[in-house]
Amino acid sequence: MTVLVVAAHPDDETLGCGGAIARHTDAGDTVIVMFLADGVTSRDPDADHAAELARRRQAAEAAARILGVADLAFGDLPDNRMDTVPLLEIAQAVELAVASYAPTTVYTHHRHDLNVDHRRTHEAVMTACRPQPGSTVATILAFETPSSTEWRTADPTSAFAPTWYVDIGATLDRKILALEAYAEEMRPWPHPRSTQAVRHLAHWRGSTVGREAAEAFVLTRHVS
Ligand SMILES: [Zn+2]
Repeated sequence: MTVLVVAAHPDDETLGCGGAIARHTDAGDTVIVMFLADGVTSRDPDADHAAELARRRQAAEAAARILGVADLAFGDLPDNRMDTVPLLEIAQAVELAVASYAPTTVYTHHRHDLNVDHRRTHEAVMTACRPQPGSTVATILAFETPSSTEWRTADPTSAFAPTWYVDIGATLDRKILALEAYAEEMRPWPHPRSTQAVRHLAHWRGSTVGREAAEAFVLTRHVS
């Protein structure tokens, strides 16, 4: 089985579904991770970002090794400004990846995250994975990204309401190890993007379904 993870920034894939990725690769599935923006250049648009970009890529590669990811693709869309890029252009990039990897399962961002790149990524994935005849994509799952999903405007229609859980009791430690590769992106407790908060969330999601630890998803579409 081939799995495609489409994330806006390097670290979102591990925060959102690192435990599920490790379970897929343990089971022999091929996992490809595609990043659409670099996660760096919005911080100080006038600065020279070469070194920071290289570090972020190295972090992504280290995390991918820990999780067993087969291939990484790096996009160069403008960070935190993906709303300035036509949706068609973003969707075409995703479409190309879907055509070349032919995934059956796609993981991506929740539709209502606070981060504009996350929202744009979700839209692009839904556009690229239109259920046309011959489409390989059977399952689309939206993950939660600490410090973006729970920071959206509180509104029942935009709530992250999970319908799909993956037991990550056996892979949570690897997820945390992969997040440690992204040390520059992590924050001290009690920030939601701290390793402690990620562990707490995993145990909370697990406890809601009778498991030690879990990742929660919104099943966006499933065709069987
Ligand atoms: Zn992100």
